[in-house]
Amino acid sequence: MIVMKFGGSSLADTERIRRVTEIVRARLDRKPVVVLSAMGDTTDFILEAAQKAIDKGPVSVEFSLEKISETHLTASKELGLSASLTPCLRDLLSELGSLLAGVSLTKELTARTRDCLVSFGERLSVRVAASYFQSTGINARALDAWDAGFISDSNFGAAELLSESWQTIPKSLLPLLDEGIIPVVTGFIAKDAAGAVTTLGRGGSDLSATMIAAACKAEEAQVWKDVDGILTADPRIVKEAVPVGAVTYEEAAELAFFGAQVLHPRAMRPCDKTGTPVLVKNSYNPEAPGSLISAVLPENVHPVRAITTRGNVTLIDIVSSRMVGQYGFLAELFSCFACHEISIDMVATSEVSVSLTLDSAHDISAVEKTLSSIANVKVKTNKAIVTIVGLVDRSTAILESAFGVCAALGVRIQMISQGASKVNISFIVDEVEAAPVVRALHKKFFEDGN
Ligand code: ASP
Ligand code: MG
Repeated sequence: MIVMKFGGSSLADTERIRRVTEIVRARLDRKPVVVLSAMGDTTDFILEAAQKAIDKGPVSVEFSLEKISETHLTASKELGLSASLTPCLRDLLSELGSLLAGVSLTKELTARTRDCLVSFGERLSVRVAASYFQSTGINARALDAWDAGFISDSNFGAAELLSESWQTIPKSLLPLLDEGIIPVVTGFIAKDAAGAVTTLGRGGSDLSATMIAAACKAEEAQVWKDVDGILTADPRIVKEAVPVGAVTYEEAAELAFFGAQVLHPRAMRPCDKTGTPVLVKNSYNPEAPGSLISAVLPENVHPVRAITTRGNVTLIDIVSSRMVGQYGFLAELFSCFACHEISIDMVATSEVSVSLTLDSAHDISAVEKTLSSIANVKVKTNKAIVTIVGLVDRSTAILESAFGVCAALGVRIQMISQGASKVNISFIVDEVEAAPVVRALHKKFFEDGN
């Protein structure tokens, strides 16, 4: 068996759904389990609708619902499914409408309610797609994640699947495959032990797919996107970016964390555990070979896999002579961030100083105040992380080239760290310099024949 996951943009309209159907049909002999995201930007629409329900009250609900209904009812009409499907879609839409109305009246939106609201995106999309699959002769069945064995903790908004899912998922899905049924499962969502709907975090349907693949011992998890695979750089920054043929799980996770929006960072975990290959493919261009994520790289692979960047970074320099020869200083420092629930991304330290970075979205005024009593603290905003993911045994040569590129551009590298996983080299530059640096690095590594 294989798992085939399609994201929102692969399901954005009827034309896309038809294409997805053909992609699935061409692989029926491999016994696919299909995992779907919400159609197009439905998740964002629902989140917007929830916010409007609070800000504008009950009047906004009808309007928001209209927009969400339209996407699904139009698709069902255009796909010729109205008669059989509309009542079922209407039931879900009216349940969504009641929930939104509740939010608009109570003016309260808990993480738990938000998860329940957004779950309707995936619940609607699997019903539209499965019913179209059936109308074209594919023996498909729409399944909500909780009917496919997905059980999570109650951390609404970023739930973790419970370990029993490793048994409950194959137990739910494999018998269907044996009967010749193609399960079409909602990505992104689950239920906790008490039966409340949870979500696995934005973009979480990748994780749903890799979890099914790993738990069911699939041959492969295919993640169908709207790009030709994992690219050597963000094509919005580097138009010469090309797909990377092969990456390891570790590299793919690094790329996801450091800004390549191709796969959900947590999505690699289940398949990494079982060694199940993950193939990233383009639903707009199924002929393209895609990128294969697995445990080992082919021989003679290019030393650099990809270059990514992420802006909105704050750099904090902490200098204290108290650190010299002392123990406990770093513990004190980090516990201060932990107390304020601020997550740190990169760290570099010397005998007397620590530099660290965090997402600029964090409010650090309180931390800054506490730290100032034990050290000299400088906060620098508008920074960006540039990350080169590549082979560790070539890191000296990679660093040499990277420094050369920055020197030629007159860009000052303000902090540098080589990740513990050893596959990434990250450095901090001013945010405005990030795109030119990425373009120059891309040229150096991929376009100049190095
Ligand atoms: N629909 C959800 C989102 O937009 C989950 C996903 O697409 O993977 O975040
Ligand atoms: Mg989505």
